[in-house]
Amino acid sequence: MPELPEVETTRRGIAPYLEGQCVTQVRIHNGSLRWPVPAELAGALTRGPIQSVDRRGKYLLFNTDQGSAIVHLGMSGSLRLCQPETPRRTHDHVELALTSGWVLRFNDPRRFGAWLWASDARQHPLLRNLGPEPLDETFTGDLLYQLSRGRRAAVKAFIMDHHIVVGVGNIYASEALFMAGIHPTRPAGRVGRERYRRLAAAIRQVLGAAIEQGGTTLRDFINGHGEPGYFRQSLNVYGRAGETCHQCGTTLRARRIAQRSTVFCVHCQR
Ligand SMILES: [Zn+2]
Repeated sequence: MPELPEVETTRRGIAPYLEGQCVTQVRIHNGSLRWPVPAELAGALTRGPIQSVDRRGKYLLFNTDQGSAIVHLGMSGSLRLCQPETPRRTHDHVELALTSGWVLRFNDPRRFGAWLWASDARQHPLLRNLGPEPLDETFTGDLLYQLSRGRRAAVKAFIMDHHIVVGVGNIYASEALFMAGIHPTRPAGRVGRERYRRLAAAIRQVLGAAIEQGGTTLRDFINGHGEPGYFRQSLNVYGRAGETCHQCGTTLRARRIAQRSTVFCVHCQR
């Protein structure tokens, strides 16, 4: 499933090809995505140039003066740029033809992705209640500390809640908690300010590193597989249940928290 770093890598890969371009045609081959692709999308997107390509959480925003296309990659979606003569692939559901001649294709075998339209994306129900971006300055340990007071939910579930902060998927939550030395099942309200500062820094570090690595594969967006550079950081805990902790040699344990498998070290994480 594309996580925040892959979505950001996608944004960086496609933005130079979309910004300033007009969409000459929107072709919808299969509009039965997570939600039906709205009929107004084609008309709205062809009315004026794409001014910018932004990201909010895992949503990509193709902004025009009239509003924004909101694009989500779902479980298996990807975007790639092609020349018009490139044969379409199975599961290429949406295509944008651009004045430059490039065609942006959205491929999504499982069709959990989304293409929506909003005149004001920030006020769209999917976006308006999202917490801060983890790489923004507004995301701090002090904020996590304030929001967590009185909360009994596990700290891991707390940082994966997109009302608190966006884009901290299972892999990043697991790794950041290990880095900060915090036990994932500890109640969020019982983690102190200093430890939240360490945790916020760890979240920025793991996500930032994953985005950096994605940056080396931007060429893949052109006539390629449209698969951004996946997380190749060396992992300390994620996917390593039963193996030994790199720091202390203790056998790593797994537990389910909020329906997600979580691996941690009982010695290094308290
Ligand atoms: Zn350990």
